[in-house]
Amino acid sequence: MYQPELPFRDGSYTYHPVVAEVEADNGMIGWGEMCPLSESYDGAFAGWESVLRTLGPVLLGEDPRNPIRNANMMDASVRGHTYPKSALDMGCWDLTGQAFGVSLCELFGGRTGESVEAFVHVGLEHPGPGAYAATLVSEGYRSIQVKIGRIPERDAERISAIRKAVGDSIELVADANCAYSVADARRFLYEVDDRKLSIEQPCATLDELAALRAHCPYPLVLDESIVSITAVLDAHSRHVADGLTIKLAKLGGLTRARVILDVAVALGIQARVEDMGGSEISTAAAVHLAVATPQRLRLQTTDAPRRVAVQLAKGLAPAVDGRLTTPRAAGVGVEPHADALGPRLFQIG
Ligand SMILES: [Mg+2]
Repeated sequence: MYQPELPFRDGSYTYHPVVAEVEADNGMIGWGEMCPLSESYDGAFAGWESVLRTLGPVLLGEDPRNPIRNANMMDASVRGHTYPKSALDMGCWDLTGQAFGVSLCELFGGRTGESVEAFVHVGLEHPGPGAYAATLVSEGYRSIQVKIGRIPERDAERISAIRKAVGDSIELVADANCAYSVADARRFLYEVDDRKLSIEQPCATLDELAALRAHCPYPLVLDESIVSITAVLDAHSRHVADGLTIKLAKLGGLTRARVILDVAVALGIQARVEDMGGSEISTAAAVHLAVATPQRLRLQTTDAPRRVAVQLAKGLAPAVDGRLTTPRAAGVGVEPHADALGPRLFQIG
């Protein structure tokens, strides 16, 4: 296990992803990653090391080419703690792809192309949201995620300032990360006026989202609410999910995320596959699953490596024309740079 530092280009934050190096008997190495992203996602981030020290011995001696069986064994050994499990699960899938000599998206039996549309987010604290969004568009991005969730009228003003700066053709995704009350969300919806806008998780609960639904003319995407198949079915039956954000680590890794994606596709719900942030490793894994999503239901993927000043792994090329392309090598298809990984934190087995 490693924990490299990935400082943001603008100095506003540093990712500290947990990187798992999973070694098979034949010397093949699989790579997995989970990036803790503030405690607003999971208060259990502080416990990731003890969870991995418990799960490592469970997988020792098992065949990594059985990632679904291995995920079930991890769940039988430790209840919950989806985030650290994701790093080991990803390492097993990487080894499985390498063992069969195919890309992850082909292993999932679903390659629908080579690339997926990506976006970068504009943070709540960004001092010049319009100019920054225009820079991203000049780099080729066709979608921008805008964080909202403070004062509804100001949030609507930021959306309109960004719209003015980027022109009419760019998709904007306003993500509140559960921060609005129903009353605040109603105010935002009253104030905002945009033709290419969707709204992600304005409020925390399905009850609140259901209260908003009739007043929301924009596509509604659910992220934090989507933690299980049951949650997807609940959201679908209450007509509050036009789209889902499937975060690999939130769900326990590729194994569980893939099932949620299948359910979304079966229900005709759009899906965004991404992770909590981090490096080329988890972003490449998310790109594979995104590319295995039917095109008509596929939403943008977060380009987390665009934010950071350090390249941790080779294999995932920077976005071109705002699109991320699946790596060419088998499995997840990335290889960390030893100097960027830093010292090994601990080893099991
Ligand atoms: Mg979100």
